[in-house]
Amino acid sequence: MKKVLILGSTGSIGINTLDVIRQHSDKFSVTALTINTRIDLLIPQIEEFKPEFVVVTNESAAEKLRNKKDINCEVLSGVDGLVSAAANCEYDILLGAMVGFAGLLPTIEAVKRGKRIALANKETLVVAGELITELSLGHNSEIIPVDSEHSAIYQCLVGEKAEQVEKLILTASGGPFFKKSRAELNKVTIKEALTHPNWKMGDKITIDSASLMNKGLEVIEARWLFGLPKEKINIVIHPQSIIHSMVEFIDGSVKAQLGMPDMRFPIQYALSFPKRLKNDFPKTDFTAIKELNFFEPDLEKFQCLKLAYDALNAGGTAPCILNAANEVAVKGFLKGEISFSKIPVIIDNALEKIENHSSPNLETIIECDKITRKFAEELI
Ligand code: NAD
Ligand code: MG
Repeated sequence: MKKVLILGSTGSIGINTLDVIRQHSDKFSVTALTINTRIDLLIPQIEEFKPEFVVVTNESAAEKLRNKKDINCEVLSGVDGLVSAAANCEYDILLGAMVGFAGLLPTIEAVKRGKRIALANKETLVVAGELITELSLGHNSEIIPVDSEHSAIYQCLVGEKAEQVEKLILTASGGPFFKKSRAELNKVTIKEALTHPNWKMGDKITIDSASLMNKGLEVIEARWLFGLPKEKINIVIHPQSIIHSMVEFIDGSVKAQLGMPDMRFPIQYALSFPKRLKNDFPKTDFTAIKELNFFEPDLEKFQCLKLAYDALNAGGTAPCILNAANEVAVKGFLKGEISFSKIPVIIDNALEKIENHSSPNLETIIECDKITRKFAEELI
């Protein structure tokens, strides 16, 4: 029986993770659940999965939960509670399903304890890839990706030698604006941007998928997960999201991992690796799919993707600046404060104006995140 701590249990990945655990209740149990505010969603999770601890980061939501009768678990709160749960609870696997920079601190605590990290929270590796990679090697903590592209590559690499990899090919759906012109991107609405063609996800990653920033963050994530230079990480637009990603080897042979666009598959793989487990999730019917298409990404139209490559090239704290400016800009877009096309403008400004520090330690990364947020908020 493996004990799982879920960071972000009320989100899209968190809910899918609980569904995987529900299917395999003889193999996994829940030790702790952490959330930000939605105690209405958390309460039934507590009743069903009976964690020993929950963390509600938002203090007033935590207080409301503590005042409820029949809650038979300890309720921690604030960022301190989050870090303390990751640092002190008893668990085998941390499922990182929080969104954004906020996931970094608890994840580092789990890495330092040598836990398995089933990682969905890509921002953690974007902002602190070098630091986390070093820590995970030093503390023997396995990082198994949950992001479907990285899970696909991880699966393609089983039994292969790193030096025989020619390149990684990350697939991207292209998002809802794949066919729009650059001028049309000026006028897209929040509702249109929140309508992803293939996946049902949290708001932030859905906007990132529409701007293709998500793919940019994934290139940076892949750089750290697989230790390959950026020249070996390619992107292909594949609108059906059936091929989750591919690896080309030095002999020209290509391995791809395919399946339905359903996050429960990569979540389950990250929990059960190296084993595979049977489940009743819907399986792939190739005759219903009929065709698979591939296109080049357009870096002129999707400036966010270009900026992510620039940040990866620059290294140091540039990916942290990229991420913080993007988080603030996406929030601004979702609140109707800026247009969709202004997202890359804000990020570009931040990358240009904010000082880059090479090989940053945790304090430098936290400071860089704070400065960038302030800068981007002022721009908005
Ligand atoms: P979501 O917005 O649906 O859920 C986020 C969760 O994190 C919620 O439980 C929320 O309470 C918690 N949270 C948010 N901010 C917090 C804070 N400041 N402090 C504490 N808790 C906080 O997001 P999601 O779509 O599930 O995505 C989660 C992560 O997984 C993201 O990094 C995303 O890029 C990645 N990811 C998601 C998908 C997907 O299909 N949804 C696929 C691949 C990768
Ligand atoms: Mg992905």
